[in-house]
Amino acid sequence: MNQYLLLMVITVLSVISCGDKRGEDFRTESPVNPGGFPDGDVPQMIVLGSDDNTSVDGMNWILDFMASRSHKDGTSLRMSFYSNSRSSSDWHLPENRKLVEVHKRAYNLGHELGNHTSNHAFCVYGQTGEGQIRITRDSICRIVNDFSHDLVHLVGMNPKHIVGFRTPYLAWSDSVFYVINNKSFWYDCSITESRHGPGRYIWPFTMDHGASGTIGSWWTENHGTSVGRHPGLWQLPCYSFQAPDSLFAFMDSVAGRTHNGLITGLDYNMWSAPRSGWLLNKDQSLAVLKHTLKLNLEGNRAPMTIGMHSQYYADDFNGLGFQNISKAVDRRAVIEEFIDYALQFDDVWFVTGAQVIHYMRNPVDKKHFNPDNYLFTK
Ligand SMILES: [Zn+2]
Repeated sequence: MNQYLLLMVITVLSVISCGDKRGEDFRTESPVNPGGFPDGDVPQMIVLGSDDNTSVDGMNWILDFMASRSHKDGTSLRMSFYSNSRSSSDWHLPENRKLVEVHKRAYNLGHELGNHTSNHAFCVYGQTGEGQIRITRDSICRIVNDFSHDLVHLVGMNPKHIVGFRTPYLAWSDSVFYVINNKSFWYDCSITESRHGPGRYIWPFTMDHGASGTIGSWWTENHGTSVGRHPGLWQLPCYSFQAPDSLFAFMDSVAGRTHNGLITGLDYNMWSAPRSGWLLNKDQSLAVLKHTLKLNLEGNRAPMTIGMHSQYYADDFNGLGFQNISKAVDRRAVIEEFIDYALQFDDVWFVTGAQVIHYMRNPVDKKHFNPDNYLFTK
């Protein structure tokens, strides 16, 4: 064998052995929209992504509300649910039959059901040097498989529609990405992104070169985990919200320090106590979401993501931990009033994470955008 050929074979073999198995899609981290359109011509997509979904009432509330509204063009609002089936509410128990039914309802309405593992385990628990526990690839594989199995066999999903994944507690490790890429999930949405801020964020990207935002991040540094190469696996970041200037003094007082007004993009982080949260009340929360949307619309129009937990919005949820928004009716109002605010704009659409990834592959400008073109067909 000629030495060049030998070298080529060795190179190919080493590429195969180091990487995950996929790689059809490729996109680098970039603030430029995938179609290269002028910023103002890009459809502004908003993804409500709700985790856990352990309350029938919580899910019915948001499903009913979204069904009662439509976009300016008459199309339906859609969102993503990242649930678990064998955690606090075991879907196999007769008393949780209604929880399975409400997931079927969501699926039949065209919403996305994504995988958040069966048992909501910590994939990484504790910091390095403190008796840290990291679960193995095999264990991750099992709890991902178990939940997908339940989506197919209890909810009746087409396995091809299970394409989105979020790591419990956002406690990701490289092994998580390895497993879900090998299982051909389209995307993960576990990595928080707060560089640059709304209007200048990077768009979703494939993790062929890891995820640069994780390098030197608090999570990476304190948990001894870094991100390798996962060709073709999309990352839909969990983008931080930006508070308006009028809230800075309040937030300084809560944090006991000056800060830049960025809030990790989930309801929990707006409402819980420091260090993870900001104790916002209803009006402050709404102001944060509206300001974030404004910056997106005036900027590069990367998707806006809002992480939720639908169970927080049920009347029987104990909201005492959210000191300044302890009533469920106020928490519901934040989401409802924000949705109604956003729907005033001609070029804003509420879509699933899967629709965003589908759009990344087939971008069009806002005049030609129809979210239904990016749905799965059953
Ligand atoms: Zn969760």
